Amino acid sequence: MNTTYAEAGIAAITDVFAAQQKTAIRLRKSTADERIAKLKKLAATIEKYESAFIEAMYADFRKPRQEVIATEILPTLMDTRHAISNLRKWMKPKRVGTPASLFGASSYVQYEPKGVSLIIAPWNYPIYLVFGPLVYAIAAGCTAMVKPSELTPNTSAVIGRVIAEAFGKEEIACFEGGVEVSTALLELPFNHIFFTGSPAIGKVVMQAAAKHLTSVTLELGGKSPAFIDESTDLKDAAEKLVWGKFVNNGQTCVAPDYLLVKRERQEALINEMKNVIEKYYNADRQGVECSSSYARIVNDRHFQRISQLIADALEKGAHIETGGKTIAEERFIAPTILTNVTTHMKIMQEEIFGPVLPVITYDNLGEAIDFVNSMEKPLALYVFSKSNEKINRILQETSAGGTCVNDCVVHLVNHDLPFGGVNNSGIGKTHGFYGFEAFSNTRAVLRQRVGFTTVKTLYPPYGEKIDSMLKMMRRFFA
Ligand code: NAD
Repeated sequence: MNTTYAEAGIAAITDVFAAQQKTAIRLRKSTADERIAKLKKLAATIEKYESAFIEAMYADFRKPRQEVIATEILPTLMDTRHAISNLRKWMKPKRVGTPASLFGASSYVQYEPKGVSLIIAPWNYPIYLVFGPLVYAIAAGCTAMVKPSELTPNTSAVIGRVIAEAFGKEEIACFEGGVEVSTALLELPFNHIFFTGSPAIGKVVMQAAAKHLTSVTLELGGKSPAFIDESTDLKDAAEKLVWGKFVNNGQTCVAPDYLLVKRERQEALINEMKNVIEKYYNADRQGVECSSSYARIVNDRHFQRISQLIADALEKGAHIETGGKTIAEERFIAPTILTNVTTHMKIMQEEIFGPVLPVITYDNLGEAIDFVNSMEKPLALYVFSKSNEKINRILQETSAGGTCVNDCVVHLVNHDLPFGGVNNSGIGKTHGFYGFEAFSNTRAVLRQRVGFTTVKTLYPPYGEKIDSMLKMMRRFFA
């Protein structure tokens, strides 16, 4: 049985690590069937605990049941199913070409498990962001030590139960707790670290990994913009943007952080978004705070942080177009849209990670592109437009981890697309094959024939024969 960190203490971390190192060597030989059996067990145990997860997430930040299923349970089960269906293909060695200079040899790439992995997860999608990476660790044949977030303690406790029930700790173990547990884990020479969280802590993780030259996948965040131009279908864009921004109460790594809107379309877009907010969250006119479709901010610290971002923006001249209402005891912040926003406001200087949407206007597209390029590269960038020319220009002249054209957030659902950031928004990719690859060492194998080979013609002693051989090789191969 697994034990939680609180029960076992930090000493258990090193014991479990040592046990997992042994298991990891054994798992190098694990077959697709064995890994698939583990993935099925994981999926079945998650489903068994589904109602416990729903209750826990409500207790943690009033996440609506349907959102728990749609954005946590279903994506986890879909990732598992996709991995199960594709694992044999992913695990197969991939034959690659061999240059004529190595005539007679053959070459392939073999995917071997990296070994003992560490998965550190954030609180905002606590179920999916623990189990998503875990699916790929299992698929790749790794062991895993998992550290869920301390900010969603109810959900993390259920995660701990699921892992303890499905696996022995010598293979997969969960350590609940905060920074002290993360720090103790990061001391160890893992073979791979998969971290999801903020860029600031991503740097701490990368520094710790550097001590052991451990490879990292860093799934981070940032300010993801959405472009609206003169051709955008505003009703359609408003429906998608309001959902993408306010699902999970705006606490989504790929939520549109702010909008860049062609000046003459701002008023019409805002009117559309106001209508959509009413439709989604206030259909019975009781106020958004009474809606069972609207979650809450995770804790008081984040509630205060976001409230202060709004206050700072208002002080510096921003206008509230809708929302603005807060209820501290409930950690409720109404869906809020701000206009007249400038870069001097704190709200444009950090990832908002809450239900507040600043709108910035532009007169020409180049100006909006320059603005995006003056900031850190975002995790996602969205374009709502009917103009192929503008879409292509934005794609070509900006950089982002991923992009949706005429939609937002949903690119992460496609298993065939790599998911991740670039520089400040992340290093490495996940989902589907890319997730399997993150936990695999792509081992290069060259199989040489026995006897005569081209390379042997260059062996010492060096002399005229070798000189003419080199001359010939330069002529034919270089
Ligand atoms: P965070 O970086 O504060 O915490 C993430 C994890 O790191 C937690 O488990 C936490 O306990 C641990 N941690 C915190 N401080 C640490 C330290 N000093 N040393 C070692 N470990 C430490 O992030 P968060 O607030 O939980 O999540 C929000 C952030 O995560 C946002 O920036 C968001 O954009 C990002 N995020 C990214 C993705 C993605 O897939 N790219 C997904 C979700 C969230």
